[in-house]
Amino acid sequence: MSNNGEIRRRGLMLVLSSPSGAGKSTLSRALLADDNAIRLSVSATTRARRPGETEGKDYFFVSPARFEEMVKADAFFEHAHVFDHRYGTPKQPVVDALRAGSDVLFDIDWQGTQQLKEQARDDLVSIFILPPSHDELERRLKARAQDTDEVVTRRMAKAAAEISHWPEYDYVVVNRDVKRALEQIKAILEAERARRTRLVGVGDFVAELTKS
Ligand code: 5GP
Repeated sequence: MSNNGEIRRRGLMLVLSSPSGAGKSTLSRALLADDNAIRLSVSATTRARRPGETEGKDYFFVSPARFEEMVKADAFFEHAHVFDHRYGTPKQPVVDALRAGSDVLFDIDWQGTQQLKEQARDDLVSIFILPPSHDELERRLKARAQDTDEVVTRRMAKAAAEISHWPEYDYVVVNRDVKRALEQIKAILEAERARRTRLVGVGDFVAELTKS
């Protein structure tokens, strides 16, 4: 048996969380475009679709009744109320991806991260993205034209509460510059991929290396 220099590994769960306006969506998109080994976990939500969003790609947009059915059927890895809506991570695609050695990216809030930590600590790598300053956070929130003024004000008020959860994360990245922040996230991902405990095939690899 030849191992082609590759060690079989278990996939990891990479969580990116941040207050709205820290630039997390831009970073997630850039990471997914750059790295074929990671795929996005598409959440289900009861909120309305925003212009430019695609069903099944950005979210599965479901009714509150359907969401509740999925909760009862134990179809979610985690779920939470965020703002006035419900959000949840479908379980089976994640289980399948990790087993197949693919990494999964999660754009979820601190509540979801805590639930994933309880259920899958060894598979989880969590990064909290911070905006560079108060003024910049405010500016970015106002630039999101899709939301009404009232929503922006509420989100600004909630940002401080969300930011207070940074100590629950493995890594913190300040998004001063998208290119630099992306480099940091990629470096974290590369290092975590080499973690011995994820390399389930290392025993076979070493046996092949040292066979007589
Ligand atoms: P938005 O409505 O702007 O897309 O997302 C609002 C918030 O919900 C973001 O902080 C996002 O990370 C979070 N969110 C999206 N999907 C999920 C999910 O499946 N679970 C949890 N816990 N939070 C989510």
